[in-house]
Amino acid sequence: MKIRFAVFFSFMVALTVGLSVAQRQSAVTAIKAGRLIDPETGTAAANQVILVEGEKITGVGPNLPIPSGATVIDLSQLTVLPGLVDAHTHMAITYKEEPENNYYYLTYIMDSTALRAIQAASNGMQLLNSGFTVVRDVGNNALYADAALRQAIEQGWLPGPTVIPSGPMIGSTGGQFWPTPEMYKYHNIMFPEYIDANSPDEIVRAVRENMLFGARTIKLCIDCKPWGYSVDDIKLAISEAAKGGCKVEGHVQTADGAQRAIDAGVYIIAHNNALTPEHHRQMAEKGIFLAGTDTPFTPYRGSEAAFKRTVANLRDAWEKKVLVTYSTDFDYWNERMKDPKTGEWLTRGELTLNFLETWKAAGIPPADILRAMTMNGYKAADIISQRGPIKPGFFADMIAVPGNPLGDIDALRNVRFVMKNGMVFKKDGVMIPEKFFHPGPVKTLNGRWTR
Ligand SMILES: [Zn+2]
Repeated sequence: MKIRFAVFFSFMVALTVGLSVAQRQSAVTAIKAGRLIDPETGTAAANQVILVEGEKITGVGPNLPIPSGATVIDLSQLTVLPGLVDAHTHMAITYKEEPENNYYYLTYIMDSTALRAIQAASNGMQLLNSGFTVVRDVGNNALYADAALRQAIEQGWLPGPTVIPSGPMIGSTGGQFWPTPEMYKYHNIMFPEYIDANSPDEIVRAVRENMLFGARTIKLCIDCKPWGYSVDDIKLAISEAAKGGCKVEGHVQTADGAQRAIDAGVYIIAHNNALTPEHHRQMAEKGIFLAGTDTPFTPYRGSEAAFKRTVANLRDAWEKKVLVTYSTDFDYWNERMKDPKTGEWLTRGELTLNFLETWKAAGIPPADILRAMTMNGYKAADIISQRGPIKPGFFADMIAVPGNPLGDIDALRNVRFVMKNGMVFKKDGVMIPEKFFHPGPVKTLNGRWTR
């Protein structure tokens, strides 16, 4: 009896999977958008039809004929826009007050790569549910859990955003840790949380290793230690990364480090704390992206004084016309992360959207916040030629919300619809991701090399 059921069940699964793969490949979907936002220009067009075939957008316009047999998705009461981008996050590390007292060195000791990878997968689904279809996942990701998650999502095993993984951060002796001699010398406690790379040869080797293991961006610790990286060191990493099609992000925490990163010409600078108005001016001039990681002051994080500085720094970068991105540096959790109204736990997606508070406090207009969360993010992720614009030929990644985020940016907190790669992940405010779950490869087995 058991065996017969198992056979029947396998047959049904095979049939369902076969059907969903066929649907994935051939069906046309027509989306009726009440309003369609173009974040590049900060404008909206009423009553548009978006045609999607397979993974891509094939047509957009006000009066497009809907092919017979097309699946129609009626979003005529909603505003449609490109999926959101978190340009700096960490899905595979979560440090806590208990037991590690927010000290992530201990998280690294206590949480295995396997556990952290599974948590990253959960975080990815939570982010997708809140409309984030792309994340740059930049370091502190155990043993390439970020690259593995990207590959798993590409294979179609589970839903999640497009992950731009960096692999371990590359830094000079010590990375961001201050280990004991015995831990450092006898237990190599740096790796895989950081790669120590001191000489030019070691820098080249580290960049190559990360790209070999699936990195799509290279993250350098510019000044995590007083010895840090010189302008020449950074330039070397940039030129080596370019051979594998990767751009370099510089983590900076000092004014001097910021200047070296700017002089060397990194693609993106992480963290705004140490940047001065003069740095912002130079970044705007050179077209360097900023992932400021602009933490809001909430019951679960931050202080009023720190928030004031963060807001002023973000405001200055925006005034100087720096290419600002929406970025969180999210990597923590505590017992206070609850919705004050409902008492429910906030999801990773909701916590990420709470960073809107900083942008609003800086007085940045909704159209500019939206551009930071979409187009600037797609450019910083270096995927703007494939994803972002809701135009024919691009991947069908889009979300829909009630109201108009160009007037009220908080409309983004109520994502009702999410499509990624042409598949519906969320509809009518409910996750319906069954088509994302697939037991075998839907793309190439060697997915780390697809670009
Ligand atoms: Zn970070």
